[in-house]
Amino acid sequence: MKKITLLFSLLFWFTHVNAYEKPSVEVVAENLNGDAYYIPGLSGAATEYEGFISNAGFVITTEGVVVFDSLGTPSLANAMLKEIRKITDKPIKLVIASHYHADHIYGLQVFKEQGAKIWAPKGTWDYLDSEAAPNLLNARRISLYPWVDNKTYLVEPDRIIDQDTPFALGEHQFLLTYFGKVHSEGDMSLLSINDQTLYSGDIIFEGRIPFVGDADIIKWSKTLDRVRNIEMEYFVPGHGMASDQPQETMDLTYRYLNFLIEQLSLAVDDMTPFDEAYAAIDWLEFEDEPAFEAANRKNAYAVYLYLERVMD
Ligand SMILES: [Zn+2]
Repeated sequence: MKKITLLFSLLFWFTHVNAYEKPSVEVVAENLNGDAYYIPGLSGAATEYEGFISNAGFVITTEGVVVFDSLGTPSLANAMLKEIRKITDKPIKLVIASHYHADHIYGLQVFKEQGAKIWAPKGTWDYLDSEAAPNLLNARRISLYPWVDNKTYLVEPDRIIDQDTPFALGEHQFLLTYFGKVHSEGDMSLLSINDQTLYSGDIIFEGRIPFVGDADIIKWSKTLDRVRNIEMEYFVPGHGMASDQPQETMDLTYRYLNFLIEQLSLAVDDMTPFDEAYAAIDWLEFEDEPAFEAANRKNAYAVYLYLERVMD
C-alpha cells in the first residue's frame, strides 16, 4: 500500500513539475532596488519570441512575494517562478494584474496554482465576460502553440480594486493606484514604497510606439500627468526597459499621446477627412521609433474616431 502511495505521489510530482514546457527564450530576473525585481520582456509583436514581449515584476517581503503581472504564457510564468525560487522560498502571496490583456495574464494560472491571490482592476470582468476574451485565447492556442494550449485558461480575480489602495506585506508598504479605463478596460500601477519602485503596467511603453487601440486617450494623457507626479526612483514600464530615470522612461509615451491629441483635434475640429489629415501631419518626431510602421496609422485612426465622438 505504501509503495502505491509513493508511486502516485512521485507520478503527481513528475506530471506537475513538467506541466509547463520550458521556453527557449531566456527569462531572467533583474534586481532594481532593495527587494524589487523585474523580468524584462523582449520588444516585439504579440506572438513573437514565444509571447515574451511584456514585463513582469516581483517584490520579496519577509512574509512572502508580491508579483506584478504574469507574462504572456504559463511557460513564461513558470520560468519566472523558477527565477523567484533562486532568490527565495517564501510563498507567492499575491499577484497584482495591472490590466487584463493577454500578454500580461496568460501566466496567472501558474501563480494561482501556487496559492496566490489575484488582485485586478475594476473593468476586468468587462473583459472576462466579453466574447473577445475566449476568442483571443482560442486564437493564441494556435498562434502561440505549444506555449499557449488547451491547458491554458483565463484566471478570475479574487479581488477587484476600484480605488487607490495602500497595503502592507511583511515589512513592506505598497500603494496600488487605480486609473480606471485608460489603456484597457481597467488599469492600475503598483508602487513598492520601501524600494521606491513603480511598476506602471501598459500606461507606459518605453522604447516603442504604444498600442492605443480602444484606449480613452484623453484620460490616458491625464493619467500620465498624475503618474509623473508620483515620487519614485525606479520605473518599470509595461513594455521596454526599466530605469532609474522615471521621467525619461515616460517621455516617449507622454509626447506621443499628446501629439496625437493635438494634431487630430485640429483635424476633427476642421472636419478634415482622416486620410487627408493623416497625410498632412509631420510624423518626423516619431517615425524612427520601433513599431511606428505597425501601430501609428491604426493609433491615429482610433484617436480620430474617438475625438469625433467626444468633440461633438
Ligand atoms: Zn501589454
